Amino acid sequence: MKRFPALLALCLATAALAPANAGAQDLALTHVTIVDVESGGLRADQTVLIRDSRIAWTGPSREARIPSGARTVDATGRYAIPGLWDMHVHTSREGRAAHFWPQFLAYGVTGVREMGSYLDSLQYWRGRARQPGSGAPRIVFSSPMLDGSPPAWRHGYGVADSAAAVAAVDTMAALGFDFLKVYARLPRDAYFSIARRARERGIPFAGHIPVSVTAMEAIDAGQRSIEHLNDDLYLLCVPGGAALQQRYLAARAPGAPADSVQPALDRLLGALQAGPGAAECAPLLRRMAAHGTWFTPTLTVHRGMSPTDELAADPRIRFVPPNLARRWESGRRRGEEARIEQRINAASARMVAMAQAAGVGILAGTDASDEAYVFAGSGLHDELALLVEAGLTPLQALQAATLNPARYLEAADSMGTVAAGKVADLLLLDADPLADIRNTMRIFAVVHGGRLIDAAERERLLRLAQDEAARAAVAPPARQPE
Ligand SMILES: [Zn+2]
Repeated sequence: MKRFPALLALCLATAALAPANAGAQDLALTHVTIVDVESGGLRADQTVLIRDSRIAWTGPSREARIPSGARTVDATGRYAIPGLWDMHVHTSREGRAAHFWPQFLAYGVTGVREMGSYLDSLQYWRGRARQPGSGAPRIVFSSPMLDGSPPAWRHGYGVADSAAAVAAVDTMAALGFDFLKVYARLPRDAYFSIARRARERGIPFAGHIPVSVTAMEAIDAGQRSIEHLNDDLYLLCVPGGAALQQRYLAARAPGAPADSVQPALDRLLGALQAGPGAAECAPLLRRMAAHGTWFTPTLTVHRGMSPTDELAADPRIRFVPPNLARRWESGRRRGEEARIEQRINAASARMVAMAQAAGVGILAGTDASDEAYVFAGSGLHDELALLVEAGLTPLQALQAATLNPARYLEAADSMGTVAAGKVADLLLLDADPLADIRNTMRIFAVVHGGRLIDAAERERLLRLAQDEAARAAVAPPARQPE
């Protein structure tokens, strides 16, 4: 059974969503090298014919029959890759769509998975995104975060017990959300009730692993994806990690000798910096692979908490609302604390390569929201580079933003590769991304739903994003006490 009925009905149908371009001028991209993201092969001198927001034909340029009246783009020397998906964003609150959406499209992020917001915001922005000419990428919509009561964030949806969990699933399914987001404070019985009811209703659930549930239990319960390479997940892979954490927590308990805290912390941090152990990690990764549990490590958001000076001075800060940029700057970790965190990030990222090798499906996601030094749109390219730094090949990183999202969404027949019959979402690059993943940022043009976004249009979108961000003011973090 298809688990994303609403997505398949609405997001990909050419008639129903903004990128639809039916009746528009045909488009021919000639003499392009198509990057086959399934095999890693390059097919030189191809022509891509696009009609009514779909790819109508691809093949050798000498065999192409270009319809009269088609707009032709000579793509000699360029590389075509499928449109990129950022599988973890929060684009539906505080008016951030006004500056996020243009950046997504300008940077070739033609699809995003919305990971939660206020219920009414999600409904509002879903409606906006579906209007013709909205300027939205394709968006798969989460329910609000189903969380304990009170929820960790003001935009969460409090679920106190099993009965409330069943009611929440029914409500969100009736409202037509593509999937349910689960979050950290969910009580055990509520979590398992969500899992059971979601299975009955045929709606997927994905998100964080609640504190009350182990990773193994969440995998067995059918959670579709695990978000973030956070400390709890990483600790399962660190040799001696759980015991060191217990000793550290015991040292901090009331009545424990004050001078025992620092040594316990030092030992824990030392283990985290030493990296994951293959033997420790294997049971978790094997279980994920066996159950088809996807993993969205969001390396970009973890990096942003302890940015290098170079990242903190990134010129893309011009796309960030000024008061938010000030919050990032004042909140960043510095000095030795930042360096330790950077070393832990680098060490923990090795878990992503282990997951890939174990057959776990990796999804590229950034957590673009108000999180520090996560840039909408271009941040997805940062994530691809970080995935390669973590040990993935450039092809595997590309797959995490193209083929894997298509498979995750059970829409591989409609997207994920540059091929006839697929939606016409793609990027034309000036250089080969398989030779250097950073070449995904060398964008010549983007095609979204059959519409060409050329250099001039990209520039207009980025100027728009900058202007909208300059006018925006962002509210303080909406975290709530327990
Ligand atoms: Zn998030």
